[in-house]
Amino acid sequence: MDIINKLHNEIDERKDELIDLLKTLISFKTPAPPARNTNEAQQFMAEFLAKRAFKVDKWEVYQNDPNVVGTLKGIDSANYQSLIINGHIDVAEVSPDEKWETDPFTPIVKDSAIIGRGAADMKGGLAGALFAIQLLHEAGIQLPGDLTFQSVIGEEVGEAGTLECCKRGYTADFALVVDTSNLHIQGQGGVITGWITLKSEQTFHDATRRQMIHAGGKLMGASAIEKMTKIINGLQELERHWAVMKSYPGFLPGTTTINPAVIEGGRHAAFIADECRLWITVHFYPNETHEQVAKEVEDYIRNIAKGDLWMQENPPIFEWGGTSMIEDRGEIFPSFEVDPDHEAVQKLMKSHASVLNEKPVVDVSPSVTDGGWLGSSGIPTAIYGPGHLRHAHAVNEQLAINELVDYTKVMIQFIYDWTNSKKEEKHNEIQ
Ligand SMILES: [Zn+2]
Repeated sequence: MDIINKLHNEIDERKDELIDLLKTLISFKTPAPPARNTNEAQQFMAEFLAKRAFKVDKWEVYQNDPNVVGTLKGIDSANYQSLIINGHIDVAEVSPDEKWETDPFTPIVKDSAIIGRGAADMKGGLAGALFAIQLLHEAGIQLPGDLTFQSVIGEEVGEAGTLECCKRGYTADFALVVDTSNLHIQGQGGVITGWITLKSEQTFHDATRRQMIHAGGKLMGASAIEKMTKIINGLQELERHWAVMKSYPGFLPGTTTINPAVIEGGRHAAFIADECRLWITVHFYPNETHEQVAKEVEDYIRNIAKGDLWMQENPPIFEWGGTSMIEDRGEIFPSFEVDPDHEAVQKLMKSHASVLNEKPVVDVSPSVTDGGWLGSSGIPTAIYGPGHLRHAHAVNEQLAINELVDYTKVMIQFIYDWTNSKKEEKHNEIQ
């Protein structure tokens, strides 16, 4: 394909512009937490896309944290495949005691890498995809299929900017999340957080403890903190059972952990603890759903509660998920699987192979991304982005320039290729 070769050469020639674009993105201070700081960066995204003929939709998800979605209508949308490119504009927080070579938001180039917060996770992926879009536009190429670019907020704090895009009706034949994957094509497991609460209807004074634990006391009561230990033990049993029984290619056995992350309970040393709340984090495999694993946890713990006379009367209360780790202390990252035989995945693999002269790795992310929301809204999805996870969230976060250049080449080829593919003819299928 002459046109692709020409564009690839142009990426090499204009590498400095690509690096500058990434530096510009990094220079917007968008750490989450604290969040509520992305408006300026998102305005840049909106203007960048508008300049390349995208119709831009920008709306506030939280104050000063707007989503931006740009849509470039294809010239033959009805017949050609459409694509969503998705990335988050927020970056991991930087704590003041981190020893960086540079100010994390004043990026530098050193040893052929760009150093700055977000270089790997994931402003590198955003920059590569944006530069590919820019070059396609400047070359006057009109894509037959629709191209949608989503720059979302909140990913680092479990705020589903991407879910808001799905709710707003954005969809496509395929979605690519350009988050950190070191150029692997990936699916992912999922995460759901939950609160388990034990609560007594009555509050007893500390002095009643003898009566509720010793012979002849005749007071039916218990410390919610002590009862929670039974639940914690139960969670460990279930975690071990999952480790023994569940597996998924690409994951180490036992990845399905249940972490008792935070515990809160009791009101004062003068009282028996009448309430205890446990915040747990549950990891699950790509072929499981958060609803399913939450039910497994509930069923197991409810059975334990049934075997306890106090918990029979005061059963545990479960609250799952949440829309933000900083607003309501809860999050969900749905899982998704990549189908290596899907036409778009095949095309992405082909683009990768032709740019890098090697077969791409198709595997699973050891982390989680927004891809789960796209996947669970019915869009075939994959993660494909530059950068190493070991650099994500780390001091001196960086991205190798070669990797960024290769990535941009793969993206330009894939965007062109996929949106130039005819939609499969719809057959009337009987289940
Ligand atoms: Zn990320």
